[in-house]
Amino acid sequence: MPFHFVPGIHPPNPQADNESTGSAWWFVFIGRQLVLQQATLTPLQVRALAPLGLDARRTQYLGQLNGQPCYGAELPEDSVLPPQLVARELRSLYGVLANDWLDLAGLAFQILEWDRTHQFCGHCGTPTQAAAAERAKRCPSCGLSQYPRISPAMIVLISRGDDILLGRAPRFRPGMYSLIAGYVESHESLEACVVREVQEEVGIEVANIRYWGSQPWPYPHTLMVGFTADYAGGDIVVDPHELTDARWFAKHQLPDLPSEASIARKMINWFVGQS
Ligand SMILES: [Zn+2]
Repeated sequence: MPFHFVPGIHPPNPQADNESTGSAWWFVFIGRQLVLQQATLTPLQVRALAPLGLDARRTQYLGQLNGQPCYGAELPEDSVLPPQLVARELRSLYGVLANDWLDLAGLAFQILEWDRTHQFCGHCGTPTQAAAAERAKRCPSCGLSQYPRISPAMIVLISRGDDILLGRAPRFRPGMYSLIAGYVESHESLEACVVREVQEEVGIEVANIRYWGSQPWPYPHTLMVGFTADYAGGDIVVDPHELTDARWFAKHQLPDLPSEASIARKMINWFVGQS
């Protein structure tokens, strides 16, 4: 099916009209689990959730997919699904669900998380209201606007000839290594973040920092920004608070790596494919 998604904040008609006139796509979550149709493993395409016995505690309009409205919805943790539906951890669906579906599910997850965590003004504590003209929550008392959060993080493939620097974080499964990564700090450029994180985590210097590509990662609102860099000096000194190990690997003798869905893996695959 071709995907043509147009983001929006106002349903084309009041939701009640949609319920009577046609179906919508629903990206329904129970915690981090996405609810899918058991038979097809695709998101729900229904007029409304209530006839399925589902009682959403929050709903957010996302936009239109091929002319049909799309909604994100959050169900209580103790919801009981009808037998034709199944809930799967969103992360487990990479490689199972088409990337276009995953992108919309990630968008729904992030918008729902933002709605859940911005019910009150962060400045004065007044309950927020949805802004009329943009995806924002506005405080009716002091006027503060709160937008969906996006947290930029850099990830860097450092090479030395045909070798790649890979590190192991304590949370990784046994034997797995990945690229060096870290969140951008306040008032810091992405390039400065690359230099700082590499220096902090593995103690080496890098040069020739080049943008590679980016990937949203909705856990819960990260934007991974990928760079490549050349080794420029120093010996590896691992920060034990961040990593349990870091070392150079020949590009044709790599250890266990992150999933194919991750930008880290895509960058490593790209480097290995370079002649
Ligand atoms: Zn306020």
